[in-house]
Amino acid sequence: MATIYQLDRARLVAWLQDRGQPPYRASQILEGVYRHLVKSFDEIPVLPKALRQQLAEGFEVGPFPIDSESEGRNSVKLLVHLEDDEAVECVAMETRWGRTACVSTQVGCSVGCAFCASAEGGRRRHLRADEIVRQAVTLAILRGKLTNVVFMGMGEPLMNYDEALTAVLALVDGDRLAIPPRHLTVGTSGVVPMIPRLAQEAPKGVELAVSLNAADDELRKRLMPGVSRWTIAELLAACDEWTRLRGGQPVTYAYVLIEGVNDRRIDANMLAKLLSRRRHLLNLIRMNPVEGSELHASSRDAAEGFAAKLKDLGLNVTIRRSLGGDVQAACGQLRLQSKSAC
Ligand code: SF4
Repeated sequence: MATIYQLDRARLVAWLQDRGQPPYRASQILEGVYRHLVKSFDEIPVLPKALRQQLAEGFEVGPFPIDSESEGRNSVKLLVHLEDDEAVECVAMETRWGRTACVSTQVGCSVGCAFCASAEGGRRRHLRADEIVRQAVTLAILRGKLTNVVFMGMGEPLMNYDEALTAVLALVDGDRLAIPPRHLTVGTSGVVPMIPRLAQEAPKGVELAVSLNAADDELRKRLMPGVSRWTIAELLAACDEWTRLRGGQPVTYAYVLIEGVNDRRIDANMLAKLLSRRRHLLNLIRMNPVEGSELHASSRDAAEGFAAKLKDLGLNVTIRRSLGGDVQAACGQLRLQSKSAC
C-alpha cells in the first residue's frame, strides 16, 4: 500500500483535485501528518469524514510497526518492520543541542566495511524515499521533534542515490518535517561519481560526511572493500569538487580508530599530508565493538595521542563522542536482525 510520505504538496493537491477536493485540504493534511504527527487520518478532524476515509483507503500513515526497541542513556534504537517483512534500524540520539535521527537507506549494505555490523549478509534491497522519511517520522512520534537528521544508518545512501536525494528533499521541505538543511548530513563511504552530483542537487547547507578510515589505498581496500575501485586520490578530488561547487563548504571526514590498524604514527603523518591543504573537519571515532570481529577500538589514550599528533600537523580534528554505544546504535553497529532474534 502507498504511504502518505510519498506525496509532496503538488502531488497531494493533484490527488485531491481528482476527488473534487479544494487545494487547501493539502495544507490541512500536511499539517496533520507532519506537525501533529498523526497516526490515523481520523486524528485530523478538520477533514470531512468521507475524505478521511478515502485517505485511509489510499495511504498508510503513522509510525512503522516496531519489532524491537532498545533504550540507552541518550538514545533509542528501533528495529522497524517493512511491508515485505524486511527490517531496518533507526536511532534517535539526544544531545545538548537537540534530537538527532539516524536513518537507514538500504536493507543491509554491500560496502562490507570490516568494522561494521551492517555489512554482514550484504545488501538485501534499497529503501524507497518514503521509507527513509518514515523512519524519521516514527522517531519523532516516539521521542518528539527532531532537530537533526543524519543518513548514517544501515546502507550506503549514494548507492541508492535517487531515493536518498528524494528523501533529503522531503525532510527539508517546509511543508513536511522542515529539517534545516544545515542540520541534515548525508554520510557516505565514498561513492566517488555521486559526490559532485550530490553537490549540485542537494539543497544548499546540506552537509556531506565521508568515511575515510585509512590514509593509504591498500589499507582502505582491506577495511572498505566495496568502494575500493576508487583510490583515495580520486575520492579527495571528488570532495574538493564538492567544496568548489558549494562555495567553499567543507567536507567532514570520519575516521574510525582501530587498534594497531590505522592509529599508528605513520597513519597520522599520511592523513595530515592528505587533508592539511584542503578544507576539512576530521572526526575521529573509536571503533564500536562489533560482535565476532577481530578488530578492536583504539584505547582512549591512543585516540587522544593520535588526535594531538594530527592537531600538531595542522588538522582540524575532534574525537567524536560516540552516542548510542550502549544500545549498539553507534556508527557501524546497526545490524540486520530478524524479528525472532530480538
Ligand atoms: Fe555500509 Fe556504512 Fe557499514 Fe560501511 S559502515 S558497511 S558503508 S553501513
